[in-house]
Amino acid sequence: MATYDYDLFVIGGGSGGVRAGRLAGAMGKRVGLAEEYRMGGTCVIRGCVPKKLFVYASQFQEHFDAAAGYGWTVGETTFDWPTLIANKDREITRLEGLYRKGLDNSEVEIFESRAVLIDDHTIEILKTGKRVTADQILIAVGGHPSPHPSLPGNEFCISSNEAFHLDALPKAIVIEGGGYIAVEFANIFHGLGVDTTLVYRGKEILSRFDQDLRHMLHAAMAEKGIHIRCTEIITKVERQEGGRKLVHLSSGDQIIADQVMLAIGRVPNTKSLGLEAVGVDVDDLGAIKVDDYSRTSRENIWAVGDVTNRVQLTPVAIHEAMCFLETVFKNNPTKPDHELIATAVFSQPEIGTVGLTEQDAAQKFKGIDVYRAVFRPMRNTLSGSTEKMLIKLIVDAASRKVVGAHILGPDAGEMAQLLAIPMKAGCTKEDFDRTMAVHPTAAEELVTMYKPSYRIVDGERID
Ligand code: NDP
Repeated sequence: MATYDYDLFVIGGGSGGVRAGRLAGAMGKRVGLAEEYRMGGTCVIRGCVPKKLFVYASQFQEHFDAAAGYGWTVGETTFDWPTLIANKDREITRLEGLYRKGLDNSEVEIFESRAVLIDDHTIEILKTGKRVTADQILIAVGGHPSPHPSLPGNEFCISSNEAFHLDALPKAIVIEGGGYIAVEFANIFHGLGVDTTLVYRGKEILSRFDQDLRHMLHAAMAEKGIHIRCTEIITKVERQEGGRKLVHLSSGDQIIADQVMLAIGRVPNTKSLGLEAVGVDVDDLGAIKVDDYSRTSRENIWAVGDVTNRVQLTPVAIHEAMCFLETVFKNNPTKPDHELIATAVFSQPEIGTVGLTEQDAAQKFKGIDVYRAVFRPMRNTLSGSTEKMLIKLIVDAASRKVVGAHILGPDAGEMAQLLAIPMKAGCTKEDFDRTMAVHPTAAEELVTMYKPSYRIVDGERID
């Protein structure tokens, strides 16, 4: 039997790669891991974590505004962008250290370099030119923001990567896209006092979410003062003297902004990895093709996370990594389960969602019952805010199972996480109904909506 330097070599030190490397090392496997940038990957370094810190920062103005109704007088407030950036960077460095420590504790050998495949069992560490061999190889190199190659002037635009490191907070920003990143950053920048315009090609933002959530979030964002321009695209970006950007829109309108941010999706990082030479197949978008167990077209080469473009979410990459370990090192073939993934959009108000949209459920099932409550959350009563909350459950009329849950409002992400448990367990609406409410909370609506707001049978709505 051939002997290799490592039992497992991981390319990519993001959420999926680090989890696989650390746990394989803890099992006593000889593990090498190469990361060309910083340990932690998109999520920790320039994604979920710094984004959430920015979300918190951007919410303070609303808290200050709400304070008066509760009897507080808030003095003059100012915001300092460099302070936020420095504090955020410190926290990211701390987390990066923890990731590294976890690998060190599992005796994973770290290569701070780009690594490419040479053959089925050989990897070259580009920084040193050293070649190492491994029995199993895991590719977990993630993705990067699409640079929108067809957009004239895209070189004057930023992506979420740069948004985390801007020297100065722009006075005005135009963001293109209607997905997670565009919507979250539109709210962040607006909350920090930036004149914000969102340009989206479709009819309504967040195309993959429930219509109710999409419309209500759009209305709430517009009410705050975010300019949302649907059914438009940016056709050209020009740099003006002094650095401001002139943004041309398909409608013929022009906007002048300090920054233009593109958030039109992310592309798998599969270029120049040696995949072709080794025979690892990729799809039209460049994503690595894998089977149900995350195995690529090569017997001993595996891929998890965004590079496979299955579901681009951190917990999914981690789950896929755990399944990979079961399959490869624990003799327990395990397919990642991509059903009923709870997700949040950290917009303001926030979205939390699990399962099918009303539209998808109505297509999938003969009949569905929709339970829907729109109300003013209690915290908005004294604050004077008119912002409404939505809680909505979709129930398959035949099995009575709750197949979709959609929330817009404070802490919606937290609720989605908890709702995912009974939904994963296959609970019925009657299970929800016999659950005691926690009062007074917004979440109690989840267990107190006894009558359907409407039904949809064979695609027909019945009120
Ligand atoms: P998304 O896929 O969410 O959204 C991409 C957006 O860009 C869509 O609105 C899409 O429109 C639009 N678009 C695509 N191509 C073009 C084009 N050529 N011109 C104009 N618009 C275009 O991607 P994001 O970049 O927002 O985020 C990437 C991924 O990262 C997400 O899918 C998500 O999985 C993950 N993420 C998760 C977060 C979370 O969990 N909270 C936060 C941030 C990111 P259309 O809808 O019409 O296709």
